[in-house]
Order: sequence, then structure tokens, then C-alpha cells
Amino acid sequence: MNQHQENVLRTIEDNDVRFIRLWFTDVVGVLKSVALAPAEVEAAFEEGLGFDGSSIDGYTRAQESDMLLKPDAGTFQLLPWRGMDEPTARMFCDVLTPDGEPSAADPRHVLRKQVERAARMGFTCYTHPEVEFFLLRSDELGPDGEPQPVDRAGYFDHVPGGVSQNFRRRAVTMLEAVGIPVEFSHHENGPGQNEIDLRYAEILESADNVMTLRTVIKEVALMHNSYATFMPKPFSQHAGSGMHTHFSLFEGDQNAFFEPGAEFQLSTIARQFIAGILKHAPELTAVTNQFVNSYKRLWAGGEVPAYVSWGHNNRSALMRVPLYKPNKRDSARVEYRGIDSATNPYLSYAVLLGAGLEGIEKGYELAPASTDDIGALTNYERRVMGYEPLPGTLHDALRLMSESELMPEILGEHVFSSFLRNKEAEWDDYRVNISPFELNRYLGVL
Ligand code: GLU
Ligand code: MG
Ligand code: MG
Repeated sequence: MNQHQENVLRTIEDNDVRFIRLWFTDVVGVLKSVALAPAEVEAAFEEGLGFDGSSIDGYTRAQESDMLLKPDAGTFQLLPWRGMDEPTARMFCDVLTPDGEPSAADPRHVLRKQVERAARMGFTCYTHPEVEFFLLRSDELGPDGEPQPVDRAGYFDHVPGGVSQNFRRRAVTMLEAVGIPVEFSHHENGPGQNEIDLRYAEILESADNVMTLRTVIKEVALMHNSYATFMPKPFSQHAGSGMHTHFSLFEGDQNAFFEPGAEFQLSTIARQFIAGILKHAPELTAVTNQFVNSYKRLWAGGEVPAYVSWGHNNRSALMRVPLYKPNKRDSARVEYRGIDSATNPYLSYAVLLGAGLEGIEKGYELAPASTDDIGALTNYERRVMGYEPLPGTLHDALRLMSESELMPEILGEHVFSSFLRNKEAEWDDYRVNISPFELNRYLGVL
């Protein structure tokens, strides 16, 4: 046993922890959990805990039925919302095959492979996620057939006595208590819509943090008799929920994206990283925007970028270089704005980091920054100016992904094909469904 593992055993004993939840995710990013008794933890560290992989989405091949969960001791955390009568803790797990090899189906492993690739190139990647979500009165629809937001407030609104404010205070306290520092939290544009921005962290830890955040937010919402949803676009007439993510690469303690005097203080490495993501953006969108509903957000206009482009502080661009702070070389970074809040963070971060590294490895050239308000142009203008659209539907996105050479390389053949299989089935369900829109529009007139 290593030092981390010994510390975990000691903490369990000192706090009289009763349940240890082992967490991992399936291919679409649903959190899976199994509770372990304290006496079993040592064996789980040494041998792993067996489970039936064939019952989990993405782990479906026959040879994946016997799998092992190996807890990552560095992620041990007490879960404060469980209360202190029966202290409960969690650890994220790596999924292994019975012979102790990393499972090709484990999204955490897919991301770790890109982290290792970055390390071979001399880089550590940090990310800063901005997570948007809606707070609703319940998960049931109102009499008008719409979800029911907890308030009617808007961007940065301070709502005295409002649910959102108390909710955010408690959620932030709870996140800090599980070791996840929060940078900002505020009311977003839509009614009941909120945003929580996590402090930057190493990319794998950051993806773990997103998974924890979703659980914390849902738990805290329940404490306020409400329901939190990360659905990308619950309302036709209001903004959707994005999960913009800022990326930077460090070489040791030096920010490799920073070059004083260069355009926007961006180094060649940063430019190649942006170029890599932009080149591969259409084929990776099925992963960053993985639901039928994701495309309702992506194509709703407003502050959502649907065309391949980058710019300095341009909110219509897919990638944005935020305002430069002259004294903060460490803050040089690039923001990817396409991704939504319902993504599997491990797979999304793997494809974005992988595409960025590809740009560096192959020395991609970056086109000039865009200063246009791209959403306001006509289709004709966009075509002439060379703004390529992201896919319009999940169907288009899956086709682009299936034709990609890079996606199977990054995701591995197993996740690549199980993801496509899962999502093609979703599209098939959707396309034969008759929606209220169609009935309202056609039944009375045709
Ligand atoms: N809600 C918008 C989205 O779906 C983002 C708004 C913002 O810029 O924070 O991406
Ligand atoms: Mg926002
Ligand atoms: Mg943002």
C-alpha cells in the first residue's frame, strides 16, 4: 500500500466513516456508485472490487462482464451532505480488467491517455469549467407543459430572498467542503439559471470535479425543495446551459501559452493548440454535445457559437481568448464555448486536449482572429468568409465523428464504437417520434 492509501485507511478510522462510495462513470457520463464497508477498503486497494460490466452502458462486450474497480486514493473525500451521524466518503475509481489492465471502456482511462501524451510532450494541462444549469421547482412540467423555474431573474441579478441565492451559497460551501474551490457563482440569463465556475485544476482532477459538482448541485437543490437540471436546452425561448472550459498548458511552472509581445500575448504553442481544436471541432462535437437536445442549444443563436472560429474576447467565436491581464502571465488561456453541461467531462476533455495536442504535434497554422459577430451574418456571408458550421443535429455530428480518423485514435476503438452505437440508437428513437411541435403545426391545417 502506498502513502495515500494508508492515509485513507487512517481517515476512515479516525472519522468512524461507515460507508465508502466507489464512483466511476459510464460512456455517456452517468455517475455510478457502489457503497463499500470500511473493512473492505484495504482489499479494494490491493485487488480491486468486482462488478458486472455488462450492465453498464459502454462496457457491453461479453469479455467486459467481469470488471474491477480500483479506488484512486488521492480522490478520497468525506461527503458533507450525508451528515455526520453516519459519515460517508467517496473515491473515484479506475476500471480494470480481471488481469489488472486498464479497461478500454473507462472514460477516465481515455482522458488519462491524453494526459500522458501531453506529459510526453512536456505539458501539464489545466482546465477551468464554467458550469451552467437550471434550478426548477421540480422535475415535473407545469400546467403550460414547460419546466417551472424557481425565479424569473436574469444575468447577475441579485434576488433578495430568492431560492437561487441561498442555493448558491450552500452549494459553494458544500463544494469547498469536498475540496473543490469555486471561483465565481452567479445568476445566469435564463429564469432559474445559475452558473458556478470552478477554479482551474489539472484536467483529470477537473473532470472528476465536474462529476462531483453535478451530484452536489442535485443534492443541494433537493435540500431547497427544488430540482437542478444540466439538460442543455430545457426552454425554447431561453438560453441553454453551456459548460465553457478554459484550457492552458504549462511546461513545469511556466505557462506555455504566454508570450509577451506576441498577438494577444499568445505563444506559437497556444496558436497551434487553438488551430488543432478548430480543425477537429466538427468531428468532436458529437462528444462535447452528445444529446439530441444539445443541438437545440447550439443552434439557438445568442451567445452560443455554432461556427468554427476564434477571437480575442469575441463571444460569438467558438474559441475565445479572454481579455489579457498584463501582470498575470499564468492567466493566459483559451476558452472553448461549444461544449454543453450534459457532456461526459472525461471524454470531452480527452477529445479537446487530444485535438489541441494534434495541432502542436503537426504544427497547424492558425487563421486570423475573427472580429465579426458571426451569428449576425447571413449564410451567404459566412460561406464566403469561410466560417464552417458545427453539425446541425446529433445525426450530422455522428456522421462526422464516424468518418474521423482522430476520434478513434483518442477514444480508442472500444469507446469510439460503443459511443456511436449508443448515440445512433438515441437518434433512431428521436426521428420516429412525433413531437407536440408537429401536431400543433400540422394537425389542424393538413
Ligand atoms: N448560456 C450560454 C451557453 O449556452 C453561455 C452564456 C455565457 O456566455 O456565459 O453557452
Ligand atoms: Mg455563463
Ligand atoms: Mg464563458
